[in-house]
Amino acid sequence: MSETFRKAFTESDTFSIREISHYRELEPLDAVVKVDAALLTQLELSSDAKIQGLGSAACGVITEIGEEVSSFSVGDKVVFNANMPCYVCNDCQRGYSSNCQRTSVHHEAGGCIAEYMFINNAEANLAKQPESVSDELACYAPHLLAKSMHAIDKACLPVGSIVGVSGLGPYGLMTIACANLSCAGYIFAMVNEDTHELRYAKEFGADSSIQNPSERYEAIMDYTNSVGLDASIDCSGTAEGLKECINLTRIGGSIIRTEHPKEADGELLELMLAAQSKDINIQNVNCPTGSENYSRMLRLIEKLRIDPSMLTTHRCDFEQLEEYLPTLNSNSAEHVETVLIEF
Ligand SMILES: [Zn+2]
Repeated sequence: MSETFRKAFTESDTFSIREISHYRELEPLDAVVKVDAALLTQLELSSDAKIQGLGSAACGVITEIGEEVSSFSVGDKVVFNANMPCYVCNDCQRGYSSNCQRTSVHHEAGGCIAEYMFINNAEANLAKQPESVSDELACYAPHLLAKSMHAIDKACLPVGSIVGVSGLGPYGLMTIACANLSCAGYIFAMVNEDTHELRYAKEFGADSSIQNPSERYEAIMDYTNSVGLDASIDCSGTAEGLKECINLTRIGGSIIRTEHPKEADGELLELMLAAQSKDINIQNVNCPTGSENYSRMLRLIEKLRIDPSMLTTHRCDFEQLEEYLPTLNSNSAEHVETVLIEF
């Protein structure tokens, strides 16, 4: 590995590729991976955050390995999530590894669209990429698929449940596919605009996608004999999306949020109280981490249980990324789910 390598960053809606120095020596539990492909989701194209690395998940080949890593060797094809917990800090020990307090010690600014990645705790943070799984599909396993499947796991759906998914970006569409895989009985796709996603929803497994909210309310109440949904998964990140989920979920049902509303108003707060009185269980979901989890997601892809390839709307070579990304930002009319970056 050379003294420096290049990595993609965003800062207040601008994108840049920066030269990063080889900032630390390889420790016994570390590995270095030469990245082959990485995935960028639509949500990352419109971040007003201070500087942060781009990319949620990637795959590549191990080029260096610490002396205490026994499950992997140089040359192995692996996948990983940009978030690489320590599994030692208090939050990791309490089961909240996606909130690891020390991940920024290892990976300042996060992200994984880089020529090389240092992997701390390689045994826990890498999973082997099966030979039959392409780089494109492998990149979906450790983040987009893992988080969406976790949302369905948290909803604890009995077979045949009636489910609504609000907000149909890449997470919403993947969540519909995961609900389908988990034997949901009927899936309503819930979005208010005539977007590409509305048409995609049926291909991902939704049974009904009605654009008009009042027609949707009537259809759901009609289908459920006026009791409402067994579970709602809110991937919208908006107060309106969460309000609709609360209004449509039955007594004792579940609401799982994959994104947090950026604003709340009095009506939402009232509805939250109403949800409490209906004993509706509202939970947030973060992307679960770890080799065990990534391997299970890769198995779903390897065995053709799920095919995320329809979510890859764009591809770009790393060398062209700096010019390409500004053409895809939130102001463009272009329809973006995910961008696959190839090296
Ligand atoms: Zn930790």
